[in-house]
Amino acid sequence: IASYDVEKVRKDFPILSQEVYGKPLVYLDNAASAQKPKVVIDAMCQNMETYYSNVHRGLHRLSQLSTDAFEAAREKAADFINAETSDEIVFLRGATEAINLVAWSYGRTFLKAGDEVLISEMEHHANIVPWQMLRDETGIELKVVPIDDDGNLSLETFSDCLSAKTRLVAITHISNALGTIVPLKDIIRLSHAAGAKVLVDGCQAGPHMKIDVRDLDVDFYCFSSHKVYGPTGIGVLYGKLDLLNAMPPHHGGGEMIDRVTFEMSTYKDAPHRFEPGTPAIIEAIGFGAAIDYVKALGQDRISAHEQGLTAYATERMLEIEGLRIIGQAQEKASIVSFVMDNAHAHDIGTIIDRAGVAVRAGHHCAQPLMDRFGVSATARASFGLYNTRAEVDALVAALHKVKELLG
Ligand code: PMP
Repeated sequence: IASYDVEKVRKDFPILSQEVYGKPLVYLDNAASAQKPKVVIDAMCQNMETYYSNVHRGLHRLSQLSTDAFEAAREKAADFINAETSDEIVFLRGATEAINLVAWSYGRTFLKAGDEVLISEMEHHANIVPWQMLRDETGIELKVVPIDDDGNLSLETFSDCLSAKTRLVAITHISNALGTIVPLKDIIRLSHAAGAKVLVDGCQAGPHMKIDVRDLDVDFYCFSSHKVYGPTGIGVLYGKLDLLNAMPPHHGGGEMIDRVTFEMSTYKDAPHRFEPGTPAIIEAIGFGAAIDYVKALGQDRISAHEQGLTAYATERMLEIEGLRIIGQAQEKASIVSFVMDNAHAHDIGTIIDRAGVAVRAGHHCAQPLMDRFGVSATARASFGLYNTRAEVDALVAALHKVKELLG
């Protein structure tokens, strides 16, 4: 796979060229949220400056232009994950809202007391808490698939957790805390064979790999724009069309209805039944521009670039005595979570911040996973398409400083 000129790519991101505390910014917190290329910022500004209007209802020129751009973003999102039709793309605030929608709407309609929902040990809180809420309301059982000490999820273990009672599997594609890439296609095949539907939390996969919902045959898939170099406030719930249309709306209001009388209302088909009120128009347009940007750079090339960085970072970080990487799964993407002797994760984060290096320190919204590994927190470096080997070197140098100070 041909590589790209990363220095040239960096120039597309205005925020990256600054200094913090007099040091060049080294942004390695991409798993939390990614920076935005100028084309995204421009697309949003252009909408606001020249053709902004509410969508779907006006007959006037600006409303038509905004509606076209908004719906074009939906087409781009459909194409991005290879959905069959853009009707399968529901625009919501992000992955959190998407999972809550499925838990609330699908869960309360199609699951009953005693049915099992299966999640994994490395889920983000966004893919744990909604199922606990559903459990407490409906009496479903919530079962957890364990992972091994390296953070691998084995198909044997997964199969052992499936039962005739499993009705839904809700699982991450890539762990935000470990970087593990889950063997999704086999998991979906096994789940379907057991009679269960599958919802995938694709938050961490969106920026790092090509996603093909049809090849996966996944029932629901969600991700957030802000991790794919787009704006906050918008994300996608993909669902197979027949499933979406069988699910009741989670919110009521304008735009999602066919007909309203004081006695009753009827609802539009998906995706509109799940998009009441004025949607995130400007954000959708920015999201569309982000998708164009990522596709133009090439997802295969981005993956290859990031795999190289991750391997290099892993190698260099393991040279630091007393540093331990949490999660060394066979299939891993773009994330290195670690702890150091005598240094709390927050101390690591604070010290290296002074060297201009931005990482995340904490439980990464995966407290049960931290418990599993017997740590309260980790520091996490996560790479994006614009990071460089020199930045990995800056991280490693800053970590040596931590060792000097605390080790
Ligand atoms: N799942 C995973 C794996 C994530 O990394 C995140 C974001 N940290 C979420 C869910 C939640 O996404 P959002 O905050 O965009 O709703």
